[in-house]
Amino acid sequence: MDLEKFIRNVPDFPIEGIQFKDITTMLKEPEALAAGLDELLQHSVNKGVTKVIGIESRGFIYGGALAVKLGAGFVPIRKPGKLPAETIKESYTLEYGTNTIEIHKDAIAPGDKVLLHDDLLATGGTMEAAIKLVEKLGAEVVQVSFLIELSFLKGREKLGEHEIVSLITY
Ligand code: AMP
Repeated sequence: MDLEKFIRNVPDFPIEGIQFKDITTMLKEPEALAAGLDELLQHSVNKGVTKVIGIESRGFIYGGALAVKLGAGFVPIRKPGKLPAETIKESYTLEYGTNTIEIHKDAIAPGDKVLLHDDLLATGGTMEAAIKLVEKLGAEVVQVSFLIELSFLKGREKLGEHEIVSLITY
C-alpha cells in the first residue's frame, strides 16, 4: 500500500520552517493503520525480539501493537518526570530544541533483544539517545524502525551499524 499518501504535511508546525509529518491522517484509516503494522512486522519477525521499546509518544502506537504481534514485552521511553520508578536519562538535540529521555532501570536487562520504534527519523538525536539507554542497561538493539525517515537530515548516520527500517522516505 502507498502509505505516503496518508501522511499530512503541516508547514511551520510547531515552529516556522518545520515541515511536520502528521501521521494521524494515516492512523485514522483502518486499512492504512493495518498495512503499516503488517509492513513493520514483515521486517521484525524471526529476530528473537524480547522487548519492543516505543519512544514517547507517537512511538507508543505501533510499538504496543508490534510487541503483541511479536510475542514481546512493551517498554516506554518517556520525557523527563513521567516514569514513576528509578530511571536512567540521556539528553539529545532535536530538530527543534533539546530534550531528555528516560527509561526505567529495571525495564530491560542483559539478554534482552530490543526493537526500538518511533514514528519518524529526523536528525537521529532521539534514537541515538534511546540506543545509548538500551546499551547502558546491557541489552542488545536488534532493529530500529520508523514509519517515516527524513533522509535529507541524514539521521541514520548517527545510528551506527544497527539495522534501520523505515516505511516512507522523504
Ligand atoms: P530527531 O531526534 O531529530 O530524529 O527527531 C525525531 C523525533 O522528533 C520523533 O519523535 C518525531 O516524532 C519528532 N519529529 C522531528 N521532526 C519531525 C517532523 N518534521 N515531523 C514530525 N515529527 C517530527
